[in-house]
Amino acid sequence: MSEQYDLVVIGSGPAGYVAAIRAAQLGLKTICVEKWLDAAGGACLGGTCLNVGCIPSKALLDSSYKYHESLAELAVHGIQLDSSALNVAAMQGRKEKVVRQLTGGIAGLFKANGVTPLAGAGKVLSGPRVEVTTAANEVSVLETKNVIIAAGSVPMEIAPAPVDNEFIVDSTGALEFQEVPARLGVIGGGVIGLELGSVWRRCGAEVVVLEALDDFLPMMDVAVAAEAEKIFTKQGLDIRLGARVTETTVADGQVAVTYHCGEGEHREVFDKLIVAVGRRPRSEELLSADCGVGMDERGFIHVNDFCETDARNVYAVGDVVRGPMLAHKGSEEGIMAVERILGKHAQVNYETIPSVIYTHPEIAAVGKTEQELKAEGIVHKSGVFPFAASGRALAANDPTGLVKILADRESGRILGCHIVGPSAADLVQQIVIAMEFGATVEDIGITVFGHPTLSEAIHEAALAVDGKAIHIANRRRK
Ligand code: FAD
Ligand code: NAD
Repeated sequence: MSEQYDLVVIGSGPAGYVAAIRAAQLGLKTICVEKWLDAAGGACLGGTCLNVGCIPSKALLDSSYKYHESLAELAVHGIQLDSSALNVAAMQGRKEKVVRQLTGGIAGLFKANGVTPLAGAGKVLSGPRVEVTTAANEVSVLETKNVIIAAGSVPMEIAPAPVDNEFIVDSTGALEFQEVPARLGVIGGGVIGLELGSVWRRCGAEVVVLEALDDFLPMMDVAVAAEAEKIFTKQGLDIRLGARVTETTVADGQVAVTYHCGEGEHREVFDKLIVAVGRRPRSEELLSADCGVGMDERGFIHVNDFCETDARNVYAVGDVVRGPMLAHKGSEEGIMAVERILGKHAQVNYETIPSVIYTHPEIAAVGKTEQELKAEGIVHKSGVFPFAASGRALAANDPTGLVKILADRESGRILGCHIVGPSAADLVQQIVIAMEFGATVEDIGITVFGHPTLSEAIHEAALAVDGKAIHIANRRRK
């Protein structure tokens, strides 16, 4: 009789590998099937996040920012460099090393916790059971009590700009450039467009962002989006809103892009073109017809609030299900699914999932935006504190942006926090914790913040909600 598992996890991205590790910690006999192969033909662990997403993009963002600092930010501190040159091969080499260290780390964690990695493509069969097909086309079936599907997502393509991986690339290709393109086009002014556009802008590329919508970052709070657009434009990102690409032509080592914007048709020629128009769930060839797991029309696996699919003992987590496509959201869902397999009443608080765009300055958000509160008719109040009034931000010569906090008008309970500014990703986490505990702006107001810190901007924005900020002139209350 074949071996029986307690849990088969399909996919080893941040949703799958975290679920597998927690399951093994809790005593479940766990195997994690991964179809991405490493150079040796074994399972390449870590998914999009570690291999072609969060980690390599942040490595390039950090390197490119250091280069930008050496050119434009250090002189003001009295640091004079005789010269500054960028070695793209070294920058890419460092990125690869970081990726290798972290993916190797997961292999080590699997070993330490007793998770078995298996290279191959998994498919859910009724039962549940999981069919695994190796690269050599050998097929086997895993007997298991439970399945967690964590198959992730892939970049979306658009017909007028087919990716050729040479001149027209997706996010993965945009992480691999071996030289700085003189002119770079980006279709999509969302998270990836801004992060990877910023990387290559800092390295010296002329960057044009073509965004189909008329509004910039419409999912962000209006005040933060408006401030961010000003900052990025000043940094030299040429952001064109309402731009609909109709055609691309590759010729003579360049790519010509035709797009409609406002009244007329326009044409731009680039050395490289990044297509960053969103991602879609990777759910094809994942489910047998009779396995009982349902999908919606966009390919997202259908789950309830607890990531239970329509089939008994089959869960789905991460990018392959509804909700924001964020690594930490998938990881929390993976943990919840495992704990529910073991009969615990775990849940994910979807109201307090932070999101960050790692530009400089960073943009970070949690909870509702002002426009969402207005649309939902929630009576609220807000406080804003600009980093221009922060002693720490000025000392660091980084005083751009603002913190905005939204609270329930009656109770003062915090409903959202939106930041564009230095270390926004880390600052917003303070409000994530506060919201998790149901804190009010008064609670933040009476909390002692160290001086001088960027965190004081959080304190002051919370105080500003009730007109009590110290280091700015408060709006007069009617
Ligand atoms: P994935 O990470 O996509 O992993 C899925 C895994 O399943 C893959 O390894 C895949 O090979 C495997 N798989 C698929 N089908 C099968 C099958 N049938 N059998 C076996 N294995 C299979 N998110 C953030 O939170 N912060 C960031 O800073 C951030 N930066 C990003 C930057 C970029 C450029 C990109 C592209 C994404 C970024 N993201 C970021 C998003 C983040 O990477 C994803 O939300 C996250 O990786 C999703 O995790 P997942 O485990 O659901 O799926
Ligand atoms: P996105 O949804 O953030 O942005 C896509 C943008 O492309 C949108 O503004 C959209 O209006 C625009 N667009 C769509 N079709 C277009 C067209 N035909 N022409 C011009 N513009 C068009 O998607 P993304 O930037 O591709 O990122 C994909 C996902 O990856 C995101 O949802 C995000 O969750 C995740 N991600 C997260 C991070 C992070 O957390 N820092 C970083 C990168 C990616």
